[in-house]
Amino acid sequence: MKADYTNKRIITVATTGAWPTKEHNPNLPLTPEEVAEEVYRCWKAGAAVAHIHVRDEEGRPTMRFDRFEETVRLIRAHEDCDIVINLTTAGAPNVPDEDRIRHLYELHPDMASFDCGSLNMQHAFIADNAPAFLEKLGYAMQEANVKTEIEVFDIGMIHDAIYYLKKGVLKAPPHFQLVMGATGGIPATVENLCIMLRNLPEGATWGAFGVGRQSVPIMLAAMALGGHIRVGMEDNVMLEKGVLATSNAQFVERAKKMLESAGLQAATPAEAREILGIG
Ligand code: ZN
Repeated sequence: MKADYTNKRIITVATTGAWPTKEHNPNLPLTPEEVAEEVYRCWKAGAAVAHIHVRDEEGRPTMRFDRFEETVRLIRAHEDCDIVINLTTAGAPNVPDEDRIRHLYELHPDMASFDCGSLNMQHAFIADNAPAFLEKLGYAMQEANVKTEIEVFDIGMIHDAIYYLKKGVLKAPPHFQLVMGATGGIPATVENLCIMLRNLPEGATWGAFGVGRQSVPIMLAAMALGGHIRVGMEDNVMLEKGVLATSNAQFVERAKKMLESAGLQAATPAEAREILGIG
């Protein structure tokens, strides 16, 4: 008999991302050592999935293989830590396709992000996910046996994902991460979240998060609507108005408490693997 996961919610922690700097929050983990230690602390606090970006020696976003390799190695060096490893494939602009794919084959993460379309980010640059690249990425994820986290920034991207599912570029059942409130993407409101949910294909699992000050309202709405949640400094560096987070684990602890006060539970990494069909 299949276990009942109705009340279990996956907490993903996104510790670093590509854009925040130590000026935004001096506690932001940047080096492989800092990211790995932060992931370990977050796992202890109740996170089941770690969404990972890496930076270069100057703290700039990069897709350099050696930085991923070192970060993943240091996380796995904690033998008790079974957190689900989710690597970005979109960690820096203007990167050759190969650098966005190589780590999937060589580091065998459980999961990786698939940004299902391009976007004018922060009124400044293009998050470039051209159709030819997405096809390559989708097939590579299947070949490398990596679970796809389909990140969508607007409703249209959900329908592109449905197209890729029909075409075989993406494998069912799909898991969606609904990214809300990024510039160029769908505004982070509960109404918009409900509209996005109505557009998801049958059998999909999903999580959602809002960027910046919308992070807590969207987290509460996702909890109420049956979705998984994501916290961390990639999305928001402030614990509350005027208060910088001292660590990513602080966000995880708070999210876990919020789940529990709603009669829900944080899924363990093993439960997250079951829910997502990993392994
Ligand atoms: Zn990311």
